[in-house]
Amino acid sequence: MSTRDESDLKMTAEELRRETENRFRIMADCAPVALWMSGPDSLCTFFNQWWLTFTGRTMEEELGTGWAEGIHHEDLQRCMDTYLAAFNSRREFVMEYRLRRADGEYRWIRDHGTPRYNPDKSFAGYIGSCVDITEHKQAEREMARAHEAAVEASQLKSEFLANMSHEIRTPLNGVVGMTEILSRSRLLPKQKEQVDIIKLSADSLMAVVNDILDFSKIESGQLELDIVEFNPAEAIRETVKLFSYGVKKKKIELHAEIDSDIPASVAGDLTRFKQVLKNLIDNAIKFTDGGKVTVRVRKTSENKGNVSLRVIVQDSGVGIPESARARIFKPFSQADSSLTRRYGGTGLGLAICKRLVELMNGEIDFESRDGDGSTFWFEIALRKVSASPISRRAKPQNAATTEIKAGKRKKNPKILVVEDNPINQKVIVEMLKRIGCAPFAVGDGEAAIQIFSEKGFDLVLMDCQMSGLNGFEATGQIRKNEKNTGSHTPIIALTAHAVKGDREKCLEAGMDDYISKPIDFQVFTTTIEKWVAKTR
Ligand code: ADP
Repeated sequence: MSTRDESDLKMTAEELRRETENRFRIMADCAPVALWMSGPDSLCTFFNQWWLTFTGRTMEEELGTGWAEGIHHEDLQRCMDTYLAAFNSRREFVMEYRLRRADGEYRWIRDHGTPRYNPDKSFAGYIGSCVDITEHKQAEREMARAHEAAVEASQLKSEFLANMSHEIRTPLNGVVGMTEILSRSRLLPKQKEQVDIIKLSADSLMAVVNDILDFSKIESGQLELDIVEFNPAEAIRETVKLFSYGVKKKKIELHAEIDSDIPASVAGDLTRFKQVLKNLIDNAIKFTDGGKVTVRVRKTSENKGNVSLRVIVQDSGVGIPESARARIFKPFSQADSSLTRRYGGTGLGLAICKRLVELMNGEIDFESRDGDGSTFWFEIALRKVSASPISRRAKPQNAATTEIKAGKRKKNPKILVVEDNPINQKVIVEMLKRIGCAPFAVGDGEAAIQIFSEKGFDLVLMDCQMSGLNGFEATGQIRKNEKNTGSHTPIIALTAHAVKGDREKCLEAGMDDYISKPIDFQVFTTTIEKWVAKTR
């Protein structure tokens, strides 16, 4: 090749190099992101136009480690560490930092660096690209804040509902309790009718309040299952029996068909199991005007440890249009508002059932045709319990009637009532007098400790939430004092909240049992009799 040809070739190679570099520069400067390059010694060798315009600094100022001057002092060390750690191990890296813009404002930058290599595979340094993510960060922060606010609002709503229901329950407790006492006294037929109406209204108001309280407890994650051992067939029969009076009035035939292969003993939340079933039967009766309601129980599967039961409640009532399917299990919604106006209800029952069944890891659903009856069912898996040993067995429903055998226990047992609400105090005192006890009431924890040390009592009924010394503290003090005498007087808690952990709190504080408010006369009597009998 002649020297001329060689110089021509060189020219072309030189032109090519320049052309390539030119192209790279145009691309780099037109890119809508910042680009940078560093050499094998980690020092920066290039910044594109976007970066220079953004920082308002010259290439000379930024080269080497000059770029670090624009990084927010709080982010600088972290950035350097990330960059050098990646550099030393030739890893790709992503880091976020605040970079000062020409106008002085710090903007959030996401910087993505990648190692680059020469054609001979030797390490050439890094190439990186940066984007301004300030808006994205702000949106992220706002979203997190909005989420936090939503969670907080939902929590507040649940707490508000729980508190409201509690506040409503307390005076309602007085209404229900006094009506109960009044209805058991000698009344003229007209008065009896009037008292019955008050009782019916108070009971249905209490049911609504209980529903709201239950729902808010579930929503705020405060509801805990109470696992006991029970006989499912017995539980179903007992629940069905509760409706025998109501169905007669509506001319409805109510049957229970329970398969014989159902285990006699399972572990589960008996109260909630019955609550779901009660709700389904209640609805079936409510939405059926004359006809049939059948409760069926089937075993759907069984293995060594568990049994799955499907409880079906079928009615021949008004049915549910397909269009209402999506709404049925939603809170506060009813299939048909005009129908419900005729039948009443809050639309909370099935929403609660669904959540309870889900809490028990089960399923609930229904089949129905408008005008042609409905079949609601729920299926849950329950742990089988062998005949013995028994840990905690649920009390049979008729415990109240069997255990109350007057004359067997101490006459006129002395009972200390610690309750700060004067209406509740009066209700409890009246109830105790009715069952032949001698009550003595005080309004706070301090007075309770004082009087307890002065007079002997057979039993203490202790309200939990009291201003000043609360029930837990007062109990703790009484138990401490008892240590000197070696005695132990039963203390029964009166709790209005009945939320997660309440039972444990009562027992931990040294109480022996608890009665939840609103006080059910039957439960009240049974519990008092049980503990008084022990003090004989
Ligand atoms: P409610 O207190 O209104 O009865 P639920 O949540 O228990 O609330 O029921 C929601 C709605 O579902 C009812 O208002 C009713 O429209 C419909 N529904 C529930 N059970 C039945 C049934 N067995 N037959 C017809 N409609 C029913």
